[in-house]
Amino acid sequence: MSEKQTILVIEDDRSISNFICRALAANDYKAIPAFRGKEGLSLFFSHSPDLILLDLGLPDMDGMDILAQLQELPQSVPVIIISARDRENEKVKALDMGADDYVVKPFGVSELLARIRSALRRSDRLKLSQGIQRDVYQIKDLTVDLSKHQVLLGDEEIHFTQNEFKIIELLAIHAGKVLTYDFILKHVWGPYGGSGNNQILRVNMANIRRKLKENPSDPKYIHTELGIGYRMLDD
Ligand code: CA
Repeated sequence: MSEKQTILVIEDDRSISNFICRALAANDYKAIPAFRGKEGLSLFFSHSPDLILLDLGLPDMDGMDILAQLQELPQSVPVIIISARDRENEKVKALDMGADDYVVKPFGVSELLARIRSALRRSDRLKLSQGIQRDVYQIKDLTVDLSKHQVLLGDEEIHFTQNEFKIIELLAIHAGKVLTYDFILKHVWGPYGGSGNNQILRVNMANIRRKLKENPSDPKYIHTELGIGYRMLDD
């Protein structure tokens, strides 16, 4: 039998922590609860978990500081933010600082488990490729071939402008993960080119969706995370 995957749960609200840890244990994960930030960090270093669930509002330190410390480590561990509904801005900041994803309280078990599976899959993919970037990404019937600079929808080649292609490329490499507006703008238009200019991104995204024949109310490939960014749907 393979070893259970370990998930560190840094959350000071005991009822939420119990709820999460029970759900994880019932789904064959090993859950380690931490109720304070410093405790969370020391458990992280002693247990090397496969994933971290992180509440940003902790009694002894800011969850952002934990994220910052994790960012400095050579080996990255996926972090899913547990966010309070009234702290939307923090969510974006946390994603920009390298968090993988977020769930908003109150959340259901199935949503939490889906986010965990998706983040662990991405992390496995990264470990397997060990930094070697793949050339071809397959998302449902969409094929993004980076070396040929080609996008196929089924067998049909779809033509994109250079910036549209860069956006699709970025979303495909990070399929399943929310990418913030700023992250995409910086990667496509450079550090100064597009920062804060969400309009330029919206226009490009509208063109991409039209070419992919996306139904805006029921997207198959690219999901809009309102006020945050975009996510390529990976399952
Ligand atoms: Ca809290």
